[in-house]
Amino acid sequence: MAAHTPTAVGIPAMQPFTVLSRHQREARARTATEPRDRHAGTSWMLDGACNDENPALFQPIGESALYSDQIEEARTVCSECCVMPLCREYALETRQPSGIWGGLTERDREQELRRRSRQRQQQASKRAAA
Ligand code: SF4
Repeated sequence: MAAHTPTAVGIPAMQPFTVLSRHQREARARTATEPRDRHAGTSWMLDGACNDENPALFQPIGESALYSDQIEEARTVCSECCVMPLCREYALETRQPSGIWGGLTERDREQELRRRSRQRQQQASKRAAA
């Protein structure tokens, strides 16, 4: 009896490995799970300048001085991105918990949300007083 020889039978063919950016992954996930009318809301992600960058650049582990070079590099990419305003608003609306979106870090987004909240309260107070 011949010794057992491993063959390729039953082994799936190798698929080309594609590294997806954070936005590409998110856009794909949303396309797969959301109703069709919601797709247009995130299709801008596919045009993000970060799709051509290392996804890790936009996910600094922290915001201390240790990561300032990384954060600045990511912000530079965002500053030249054609969908930056959409990205920024999306991240604020969906309360993205981490990473750099639209040039804003997590801390930046928290500050911006607080600023907007204060602004809304001031406007409501003015309307009530009028
Ligand atoms: S603004 Fe920055 S994080 Fe947003 S899509 Fe553009 S490059 Fe990516």
